[in-house]
Amino acid sequence: MDIKGLEVIDDLKSYLEYLREMGIDALPVLPPQKSTLKEVRADLGECKRCKLHRTRRTLVFGEGNEKAALMFVGEGPGYEEDVQGKPFVGKAGQLLTKILQSIHLEREQVYIANIVKCRPPQNRNPESDEISSCRPFLLRQIQVIQPKIICALGTVAAQSLLQTREKITVLRGRCFDLTGIRMIPTYHPAFLLRNPERKKDVWEDMKRIAAWLKEFGMSP
Ligand code: URA
Repeated sequence: MDIKGLEVIDDLKSYLEYLREMGIDALPVLPPQKSTLKEVRADLGECKRCKLHRTRRTLVFGEGNEKAALMFVGEGPGYEEDVQGKPFVGKAGQLLTKILQSIHLEREQVYIANIVKCRPPQNRNPESDEISSCRPFLLRQIQVIQPKIICALGTVAAQSLLQTREKITVLRGRCFDLTGIRMIPTYHPAFLLRNPERKKDVWEDMKRIAAWLKEFGMSP
């Protein structure tokens, strides 16, 4: 956990101690929000929450198995995804499909989403206000799917999910706990297209993921 996470826990502890001093020793527990991906998609609607809506062609919600044990989170749609309305269908997507197949998985068995659902102009990195607008919907998708493992693809996905500024070279291949979900950042397939010598690192990460799936009784 990073410093920010520890600070939040400290704040929460002080707040609970304050409540106890006030004589409050029980907190109401909200029932977990029951919803489906269809409902999350409906709530998103023809989203205009951030400026990306002005330049997008199609909102790319995400696709795959609603009950997937393994979920991939990328950065945001590129040209091809914006045209087709599906995540990872361009050149990087074709490589992702091969990466999945290397551990005997088909795209239909996993869920694939992005940090932002609309293509940033000229494929620039999504900006923090755009990421923040999209975040609640990604978190709801994660809540519905309840994957055992999340693989963050690239810097933007890893940094946004972990709320850190740490470099991908530092984060890659490490195992994090994301509120009970095992999370592993790896290199983005588009980066691998430019730096094929780094494919061996991703292969190591995929082998770990395959071993975890086995551990969870969900062998590919
Ligand atoms: N790159 C991403 O990060 N996501 C996609 O969906 C496609 C390319």
